[in-house]
Amino acid sequence: MLEERKAGLKRASELLEGAKKILITSHKGPDGDAIGSALGLYHILRNAGHKCIVVLPDSWPSFYDWMPSQKDIFVFDKEEEKVVAELLDIDLTFYLDYNESRRRRPNFQTVLSEHPAPAIMIDHHRSPDEIAEVMYSFPEASSTSELVFDFAEGLEMKKRVDLNAARCLYSGIITDTGSFRFSSTSQRTHEVAGFLLERGVVPSDIHELIFDSNHEHRLKLLGYALYEKMRVFGRYGAAFIALSKTELRKFQYKKGDTEGLVNYPLSIDRVSFSTLITERENEVRLSFRSQGDFDVNEFARAHFNGGGHKNAAGGVSYYDLRTTVDRVVQLIKTLEAES
Ligand code: 5GP
Ligand code: MN
Repeated sequence: MLEERKAGLKRASELLEGAKKILITSHKGPDGDAIGSALGLYHILRNAGHKCIVVLPDSWPSFYDWMPSQKDIFVFDKEEEKVVAELLDIDLTFYLDYNESRRRRPNFQTVLSEHPAPAIMIDHHRSPDEIAEVMYSFPEASSTSELVFDFAEGLEMKKRVDLNAARCLYSGIITDTGSFRFSSTSQRTHEVAGFLLERGVVPSDIHELIFDSNHEHRLKLLGYALYEKMRVFGRYGAAFIALSKTELRKFQYKKGDTEGLVNYPLSIDRVSFSTLITERENEVRLSFRSQGDFDVNEFARAHFNGGGHKNAAGGVSYYDLRTTVDRVVQLIKTLEAES
């Protein structure tokens, strides 16, 4: 793996050397690691004298709006024509925090897959598609933000990690590790975080910006979801919460309001598999979390056109909410039957 990493870095360094304008992209429904790694890399590359732009497929929860230079980001589904014009002279592209082109949204996927520039993937999801020339893919890493630091260090660009970059990368690390709680957290994760603190990051500031900026309705939605909607299948070690569009609307749902909700059932001592099911405009989204051996990446791939990591994954269903819920219940019951 060390050899592979070295070869990847060598090729990345050649590609960067010749690049006049660099595009940084991440996945649809950007989370803290998507936006944090994208902006972190943006600051690092700019500090190294590169011209670059960040394009995200759609917008992000407002609790990431404070991130340095978030105003520079192009949002593809809001300004498609502008992005297409910007892409004309791109000669190198980064794919951050996603491992398959399906995670970009259809229109953006078409534009990118037809783009001739070589690409570098920096990602930590399992079983990546070979869609980039350089695959800087390490599923054991806590977050893509940790890997962006690793990549920069490997290219001797550590000194380009200024406070702006550090605040973005730190945000990606804490959101993907549940503030250093999840099993993906390693010694290396803490070492990288330590370096970011050296650069001036104040952990309590970042936690407050991301986690203590709730609006009242979000907290009430959390209470409602746990009290009224959580179904626990103790015998099966599983639980799920399903929320309809109407329920979300009742609590004035805004993007990001259900982030983290899927983790709550896991804190019940006999629950080690949790699912959050939310009804969206044209689909039903599913979020899966597990503790221990049960592989939700496999589960999401097998049943819900999705994927992710062993203990955190997502997927989608094109059945209606009720049918999707029935399928989840059925699957929970088969799981126990199999084990
Ligand atoms: P979340 O439940 O927070 O949306 O996602 C959990 C993890 O699974 C994240 O790392 C996310 O990138 C990944 N994930 C979510 N949805 C999908 C999907 O549809 N396909 C794949 N491959 N990964 C997903
Ligand atoms: Mn991530």
